[in-house]
Amino acid sequence: VRCLSDYDEFALIARIERAFRDQRSPQIVLGIGDDAALVRPRRGEDLVVTTDALVEGVHFRWETQAPVTIGRRALNVNLSDLAAMGARPLGFTLALAAPPSLPIRRFGETVRGLALAARRYGCPLVGGNVSRARELSLSVTAFGAVKAGRALTRRGARPGDRLFVTGTLGGAALALARAEAGRGRIRRAPEPRLRAGQALARMRKCGPCIDLSDGLVADLEHLLEGGPSGRRLGAELNARGLPYATGLRAQAARLGLDAEALATAGGEDYELLFALRASCASAKVLTRRLQVAVTEIGTVVSRPGISGLSRIARAGWRHF
Ligand code: ADP
Ligand code: MG
Repeated sequence: VRCLSDYDEFALIARIERAFRDQRSPQIVLGIGDDAALVRPRRGEDLVVTTDALVEGVHFRWETQAPVTIGRRALNVNLSDLAAMGARPLGFTLALAAPPSLPIRRFGETVRGLALAARRYGCPLVGGNVSRARELSLSVTAFGAVKAGRALTRRGARPGDRLFVTGTLGGAALALARAEAGRGRIRRAPEPRLRAGQALARMRKCGPCIDLSDGLVADLEHLLEGGPSGRRLGAELNARGLPYATGLRAQAARLGLDAEALATAGGEDYELLFALRASCASAKVLTRRLQVAVTEIGTVVSRPGISGLSRIARAGWRHF
């Protein structure tokens, strides 16, 4: 089979460029091909920048996920960070490192996945780098824009705030567990909640917001660290009201796993978790405004610690 060592660097860059050829944006003044890209946000906007890498053997395995899904995931996890800041995407760069033995088909499918995600969310590729490495890694840096001073941060939670999440929980951890048990590959890449984040950033009196990459409990703890004058706060959760992914309970039982643990500590759901002042709209109204299912899951309290779960499964994700 043909692999990367059959191509030179510029042929690979040309392939990448071709996959994105039809993607244009008025805010990209200069894209792939020069020493650097030129991005022009609108007047009165802050530039939002985030980076996240997917590394073979650490964040994904070829055996459990199709290359096109890996490509989509690589961009979507970055777009999820833009969403959590309330930003709209402008563009992204890609630092790609790969082994010479990587089949060109896998490379092509991965790039196709990136291009599909980029088109879907209006975030063109504006530059990057290629280098040789022992495993494939996709390091994406995504750029976005938000009205100056209006970005959603992790700070600003107050006692009495109500806590909400978008979408459902536990689906990503379940899919991973199923794949690892040899019961089918991971089929879905996370969906960045860009419209929801932007709608939240437009709302007055919006509290803090974070995207759920490490699991509900771990990420909620980050929100609770950012109370008034850096005080640590707590939360009372309603475990029975958590929005479980479809079929979570039954399928978890079949795998001998605990559904609540998957939903609260599984990670990689990439939903938004946010707090709003007590006088805010209901979850039903928010669902309409944010154009995604919103569920109220608890409240912020002044006493540190998270209560209301049958057991605090604190697995989270450990990098080292
Ligand atoms: P330089 O030597 O100035 O860093 P390169 O020769 O590495 O430039 O890259 C040439 C052009 O191709 C640059 O515009 C760069 O951004 C783009 N490019 C290189 N690798 C990638 C990639 N993986 N994805 C997108 N664009 C890339
Ligand atoms: Mg140069």
